[in-house]
Amino acid sequence: MNILLMGPPGAGKGTQAEKIVEEYGIPHISTGDMFRAAIKAGTELGLEAKSYMDKGALVPDEVTIGIVRERLALADCEKGFLLDGFPRTVAQAEALEQILSDLTKSIDYVINIQVDHDILMSRLTGRRICKSCGATYHLVFNPPANEGVCDRCGGDLYQRADDNEETVGNRLAVYTNQTQPLLDFYQEKGYLKNINGQQDISDVYSDIDSLIGSL
Ligand SMILES: [Zn+2]
Repeated sequence: MNILLMGPPGAGKGTQAEKIVEEYGIPHISTGDMFRAAIKAGTELGLEAKSYMDKGALVPDEVTIGIVRERLALADCEKGFLLDGFPRTVAQAEALEQILSDLTKSIDYVINIQVDHDILMSRLTGRRICKSCGATYHLVFNPPANEGVCDRCGGDLYQRADDNEETVGNRLAVYTNQTQPLLDFYQEKGYLKNINGQQDISDVYSDIDSLIGSL
């Protein structure tokens, strides 16, 4: 079961990834974890990646792709894997096709968790934090009893700059622009499966589970 998981910020991808790897016993391979593991193991590619990261530079594709290749060749991927955060571009997706073909593997599904823009905005801008005690609230998921006031200590609630509409809107626009060509690529290959991410977490998982349970 070789799966690629995609979805915008706020779609609940992390939660679904946890459920999938727990249920199916396949490794969750995220780009960040992969880099950290390669650096910790001191592989040549890991050290190369580190030299870019230490300078605050982007790790070049050839290094990233090399690290993905090494990771997918490990024994724990024999039963399958859940790839998360890679590929980010069509060039990387083409490289991944080549890696998998070399390993005599292929992608089964690209699972794309879809959520409307307005809903993502309300999920991602709803966080409020207490100035006095640091308690966190969410206007939709965990609202305070009285607007703008901390239930715990009566302090004022504020919104972090990262959570404002403009910053979140930009993040979502960047994601969409970057991801659409990738979705088109996988649609054309016949791998793409869209999942409705606007349901309860358990219903989203149940849709994913019935899709991959048939593999
Ligand atoms: Zn408080």
